[in-house]
Amino acid sequence: MVPHFAAWGSIRDKSLKGEVMETLKWLAYEKWDRNPKEELPVFDCPHCWETVATLPLDAETGKCPGCGGDLFITDMLGFHQEMEEDFAPETIARTYMTIHETLLLFTGVGYFWEYYRDLLPECLFVKDGPLSIRAQYSKLVNPIRRFLAHARDSGYPVHIIGQEKTGYFADHLEIIEKNMPEGTLFIHSDKYIKREIQQRPENGAPCPTEKTPIMGLRYSLK
Ligand SMILES: [Zn+2]
Repeated sequence: MVPHFAAWGSIRDKSLKGEVMETLKWLAYEKWDRNPKEELPVFDCPHCWETVATLPLDAETGKCPGCGGDLFITDMLGFHQEMEEDFAPETIARTYMTIHETLLLFTGVGYFWEYYRDLLPECLFVKDGPLSIRAQYSKLVNPIRRFLAHARDSGYPVHIIGQEKTGYFADHLEIIEKNMPEGTLFIHSDKYIKREIQQRPENGAPCPTEKTPIMGLRYSLK
């Protein structure tokens, strides 16, 4: 099976009534806006690799304007940049899971936005794992950030937390928690994260494998 077709087929899985695909379109075309995007910002075509691929508003499939190859909306996420016909590194599976979880989370957010907007500021959405996606998939992060900013500016702020139980931040909490009184909420500054947690230069460039935060602040809670 052609891998980029597999990603598309899975995102529109019928067992979830295609809701995840609807959420991807809702975010990618910015359908939450009164003036949604007429077309997707250009992305790399999985056939000719030119950065000319796009799809018109609400389309799930189409043709590359450069080479005429089949395009799927999921191609905008860029799985094909790490994937070859018979080879999909384990990292792709993990990233795919994160993206799917993120889309599921925003299926809930979008539902409240469309039908119960007044209740939205009173909700707290909780995701298992960090609120970040590997840097090369930032095509999804930017539309999410724009939606969150729009929701906030419209007076309906969306509250989301991601709980990290493993990784750098969890390890760091283990070290510092003995000095934290019960009930402490410790918000980490960017400087603190670089210096104390990641142990890299404060003004250094991001490392290539770094994850792009979707939003917000990192904190430790005891
Ligand atoms: Zn092409």
